Amino acid sequence: MITYEPVIGLEIHAQLQTVSKIFCGCSTAFGAPPNTNVCPVCLGFPGALPVLNRMAVDLGVRAALALGCRINEHSIFARKNYFYPDLPKGYQISQYERPLASEGVVEIDSGGRIGITRVHLEEDAGKSLHEGFADSDRKTYVDYNRSGTPLIEIVTEPDLRSAADAADFFARLRATLVWLGVNDGNMEEGSLRCDANVSVRPADAEALGTKAEVKNLNSFRFLQKALEYEIDRQIELLRGGGRVVQETRLWDAAAGETVSMRSKEEAHDYRYFPEPDLPPVVVSEAQVGSIRAAMPELPEVRRRRFTAAFGLPEYDAAQLTQSRAAAEFFERTVAAGAPPKSASNWIMGEVARALNESGRDLADPPLSPERLAGLIALVDRGTISGAIAKDVFEKMVGTGRSAEEIVAAEGLTQIDDESEIASLVDRVLAANAAAVAQYRGGRDATFGFLVGQVMKSAGGKANPKRVNELLRRALDAT
Ligand code: ADP
Ligand code: ZN
Ligand code: MG
Repeated sequence: MITYEPVIGLEIHAQLQTVSKIFCGCSTAFGAPPNTNVCPVCLGFPGALPVLNRMAVDLGVRAALALGCRINEHSIFARKNYFYPDLPKGYQISQYERPLASEGVVEIDSGGRIGITRVHLEEDAGKSLHEGFADSDRKTYVDYNRSGTPLIEIVTEPDLRSAADAADFFARLRATLVWLGVNDGNMEEGSLRCDANVSVRPADAEALGTKAEVKNLNSFRFLQKALEYEIDRQIELLRGGGRVVQETRLWDAAAGETVSMRSKEEAHDYRYFPEPDLPPVVVSEAQVGSIRAAMPELPEVRRRRFTAAFGLPEYDAAQLTQSRAAAEFFERTVAAGAPPKSASNWIMGEVARALNESGRDLADPPLSPERLAGLIALVDRGTISGAIAKDVFEKMVGTGRSAEEIVAAEGLTQIDDESEIASLVDRVLAANAAAVAQYRGGRDATFGFLVGQVMKSAGGKANPKRVNELLRRALDAT
């Protein structure tokens, strides 16, 4: 039986986080009442002229640089013509022959290098509303607030070889765009969208097979599932003696399958031509230089710095560079005096748990990095035990007080004093004669129980190491 290899290329649309639209001054805020953020330009009134938003260009360049692209000094806007009610001008202003940037590359976890064909600027369309009105069965409503929102389209080479790699690539791309402040990463609101092109070919073949394009993939999971489904469908088709037809398919999440939307014959002829109302976009080398200089350190670079400069394990460094907020929180905790590995453990442990419970993220942390460092210092100095520290942490999150205040106010300071612990040990041994006899009879497991009893009588505050030592000594003495 012939083995088939999947071949995948992605086309990703990302909304740029500008305050105003790409060719007019209207707000890009999400969720405004329908058709309130509109003007003659984004409604496509005849005679209204577009003016390019410089911020959109800067953000596009940022993204392209992070993807290792070459920035084209001159790029050209073009009209992409098609009719649809959410496209008031009857064409979308996009870039076609000369895009903003070309020829990038991104490395993924499996070690593959994924080529970036191009990054170009374009405007978004409005939104058709088919549901939610009393007369929805007869009418479609259109909201033009999104019309003219700046987008970049990122097109990859057909370099991905599995559904998992495609999902990994997309996740990494999302993290980078969010990290850079280019995109908000919100796939549910549609500010990040992905279409996947997929074909299969005999494992030893050079030539690419016929591809299908799958749309409507608004989560990593859907992207992966849709690709898995589509790869299997194409392989089965070929094994059954059929052939793949070039078409656009839609992912039906409820049914868990892709369904045909339109074939190549029905495909649009967009009649692209240069946009006469906009001059070429010029991005000089000097401008590229200053955009590059203003960019935050990229996730990959930071990850490497975390292992090299702080001696963190790979795993920790990867976790802590999932978001810029997490990376910054970690560095501030260390700057406030915490040992890097302790800071990392606390952030990936208790802090992550607190965030999960409250549904917040580190952009809005439950305590400051300086406060966390204060807590870690108390543990390191032996003022409180690790177990007590977790309780103190809870109280810090709940009350906003510092670790020192809580420990002082609640008398949680660790009991280190030998005579104090020794008298607790004596009392526990006297009260648990049976357990003591068992231990001395050879049942070592009883030891843990006795440690627990001493800790309990100390309200959890006794230094556990010292309790172990003194208990052992007392039990083995006679
Ligand atoms: P189209 O002419 O249909 O727009 P393009 O050549 O512009 O196709 O490619 C669009 C996307 O499809 C790119 O991401 C590209 O990598 C991918 N692609 C092209 N050919 C194939 C193929 N045979 N199998 C899988 N993906 C492909
Ligand atoms: Zn407008
Ligand atoms: Mg194309």
